[in-house]
Amino acid sequence: MLKRILLFLLIFLLFGLIGFFFVAGKIVDRQRNTTAEMDGSAVSEEAKALHQKLLIGDLHSDNLLWDRNVLKKIDHGHVDIPRLIEGNVTIQVFDAVIKTPRGLNYQKNTANSDNITLLAMANRWPVRTWKSLLQRALYQADVLQRAASRSEGQLTVVRTSAELQRFLDSRRSNPRQVAGLLSIEGLHALEEKQENLEKLWDAGYRIMGLTHFFDNEIGGSSSGAEQGGLTPLGRKVVQQIEAMGGIVDLAHASPKVVEEVLAMATKPMVVTHTGLQAVHGNPRNLSDDQVRRIAEKGGLIGIGFWDGALNAATVDDVVKTIRHAVDIAGIDHVGLGSDFDGSTHSCIDSAHLILLTDALLKAGFSEEEIGKIMGGNQIRFLLENLPG
Ligand SMILES: [Zn+2]
Repeated sequence: MLKRILLFLLIFLLFGLIGFFFVAGKIVDRQRNTTAEMDGSAVSEEAKALHQKLLIGDLHSDNLLWDRNVLKKIDHGHVDIPRLIEGNVTIQVFDAVIKTPRGLNYQKNTANSDNITLLAMANRWPVRTWKSLLQRALYQADVLQRAASRSEGQLTVVRTSAELQRFLDSRRSNPRQVAGLLSIEGLHALEEKQENLEKLWDAGYRIMGLTHFFDNEIGGSSSGAEQGGLTPLGRKVVQQIEAMGGIVDLAHASPKVVEEVLAMATKPMVVTHTGLQAVHGNPRNLSDDQVRRIAEKGGLIGIGFWDGALNAATVDDVVKTIRHAVDIAGIDHVGLGSDFDGSTHSCIDSAHLILLTDALLKAGFSEEEIGKIMGGNQIRFLLENLPG
């Protein structure tokens, strides 16, 4: 009898472990990364012709967080290489999320809890990533690099403007390829050590988000408990990012951090994924004044596709937000910052970007303007601001 009970418990445990390590992460992925109805049947012939000519660039995807093979097309979430190619995307920024608070919200979060530890375990990341935020960043960079080396030329990770230029030259004769660029979402990845910035750099990170949903050792978050400015370490880190030739990302930064970075920065900065408070008033979105001043510094603002950045996850709402951003910042400072696969309900996935081209045309944007918004600005900005 005892033997039977033990056997039963063993089998129960085994199924539990299989469920945790092979199923749980995939269920969370499927539940968190959803898409609104995508119907391409009404896309105009004019939009189809234009979309094929565009160079498209998206500034933010959290794809690396999930238990996926980015080279394989799947039926959920927003990004994989086949869908990026289908959507005629030239460059996708792949972001590393390393820690998010439990009960995450746009108003106020502390750094005391972390969802990613359990997800890292469930997704079978190496044990070194379970406790170390730096290792989580290094691991995700490695996942992208390894995917690129298996991709038979369909994915190229770029680190410099010269590499991006070489990729653009090569893509002219073979458009069935995508460039990837690494960004980090929150420099708590440094684990309070400035010298770790070089480890992120060596792993390929070129866009550095200072904070995420909570205040960290670098500065305040727009959703943090105190929402303060840059710390002394934060000021040094911003200077070092600029000295190395990296790009500062102000997404999720507190208003004080935005203010202080604007005051001290000598290079243009990016906001990889945001909405606008004038369209949808959540504290995570940028004010008109911030948009204007980031643009005055030569910066670039990526407009998000998800319901939290917008009033609703619709392509029309993205267009409305882009319209306002262009009115405030000027046409050369607005791009796409989808937040694909960022635990988001998105209006479209990467394969259906043509719906945005179509909606921009119908909203009266010229072909030249659409070319800039969809990717011309992103590519020009990266060519100008990545290290040579
Ligand atoms: Zn984010």
